[in-house]
Amino acid sequence: MKPLRAGDTFRFDCHPGVPCFNECCRDLDQFLMPYDILRLRRALALDSHAFLERFCRLHVGPRSGLPVVTLAPADPVRLACPFVTPRGCRVYDDRPASCRTYPLVRVLSRSRATGRTEASYLLLKEPHCRGFEQAARRNLSEWIDDQAIAPYNRFNDPLLDIISLKNRRHPGALAADALRLFRLACYDLDAFRRAIGEDRLPGGIAPGGELRRAAGSDDENLLMAGYRFLEKELFDREEPG
Ligand code: SF4
Ligand code: SF4
Repeated sequence: MKPLRAGDTFRFDCHPGVPCFNECCRDLDQFLMPYDILRLRRALALDSHAFLERFCRLHVGPRSGLPVVTLAPADPVRLACPFVTPRGCRVYDDRPASCRTYPLVRVLSRSRATGRTEASYLLLKEPHCRGFEQAARRNLSEWIDDQAIAPYNRFNDPLLDIISLKNRRHPGALAADALRLFRLACYDLDAFRRAIGEDRLPGGIAPGGELRRAAGSDDENLLMAGYRFLEKELFDREEPG
């Protein structure tokens, strides 16, 4: 993997004419972040619970002790993505962050001196990908803009912050109610919204005013409010940030 800086360029193109077209959409081991699910289930006009049941597998991360969601392959042999078609990705406008970012890998690091998080990018050259043999030359900053990665980062970075907070304050396994609450707030927003409205969050936790207001708003607001709620209720963070 090669580190890239803002003005750096790399040769890459991906289109139906490349000999490896769709090759990267099989042998799937694809993690989904909460915002990936928000976008995909909206694009497919599915309730979040129905989306999880139909397209996902739910796990608990062995190291983080937190819920993890992966895409369930469409077949047991090729392990193809459920959204790949002979013409390409059928959810292209709402494809997950990792599909957008490829062939780059985004790395987040926190400065010990300032506490600020900074992103950097690596170029991932995989042998099966013939996109690197194409003539088109890409600029790192333009690639990030073209792929519309920014909104994904905006919703995914706070989750990475929560994982780091959890590891510092509550290493190891979570109680069953805490796991259920985390899964609802991050990955099953429709069920989370219903549970807030009916006052039946796992563990009998009271939702509070901010969460109730967010539940009456759109998924983006609910997801962000849910993150703040998890930080405070599960990991004792008083002030966001
Ligand atoms: S979501 Fe689309 S781009 Fe991503 S692996 Fe599936 S078919 Fe490929
Ligand atoms: S392997 Fe590379 S060039 Fe081929 S379809 Fe996937 S991203 Fe595009």
